[in-house]
Amino acid sequence: MSNRTISLTDNLYRYVLDVSLREPDVLRRLRKETSRHPESKMQIAPDQGQFMAFLTRLASVRKAIEVGVFTGYSSLAVALALPDNGRLVACDVNEEYTDIARRYWCQAGVEHKIDLRIAPAIETLDDLLRGGEADSFDMGFIDADKVGYNSYYERLLRLMRPGGLILIDNALRGGDVADPSVSNKGTVAIRQLNAKLHTDQRIDLALVPIGDGLMMALKR
Ligand code: CA
Repeated sequence: MSNRTISLTDNLYRYVLDVSLREPDVLRRLRKETSRHPESKMQIAPDQGQFMAFLTRLASVRKAIEVGVFTGYSSLAVALALPDNGRLVACDVNEEYTDIARRYWCQAGVEHKIDLRIAPAIETLDDLLRGGEADSFDMGFIDADKVGYNSYYERLLRLMRPGGLILIDNALRGGDVADPSVSNKGTVAIRQLNAKLHTDQRIDLALVPIGDGLMMALKR
């Protein structure tokens, strides 16, 4: 036993899923379809989806926003956990991917909760701010182009109510953040954002090693 976070072997990770994953059939089918997609690594892990749905319920989220939809696994997991009058603004630029997402949102009967915006996310976030929606969102999730993360974070922070939760994916970049020999733009951007959040007095934070690392920022 030690006072550090446990490392998950493949065997132990399988155990985690075996004893805790309650994946609805529609999510399982979406994950299966997406696994055949050339960009399938962009999909979040099923236990992370369940964790995000859990947080949605824990925080009684009614109004959420997602930057980076891909084929819609995380948006569907969150939408299923939203109340019937809840709303998820989903931002993406790729209609080919989001057509898959929409098909599953409809199958799950949650499409009325999801407001898909096909445009560069910065434009959508600025539209929301201009439309008077600052300080009104309960939760946000960033999982898009890594170089854009800081701009998305700054806007989401304004859109969140005090106590609103921002989740930032890929905070560990497969371990690359801690390897000084890795200096690609995406990894540098994540390293800089992680360092910034560490001392950002506008938030409380936790970096949770689930999936590829989930940075959680709670707006003060
Ligand atoms: Ca991701």
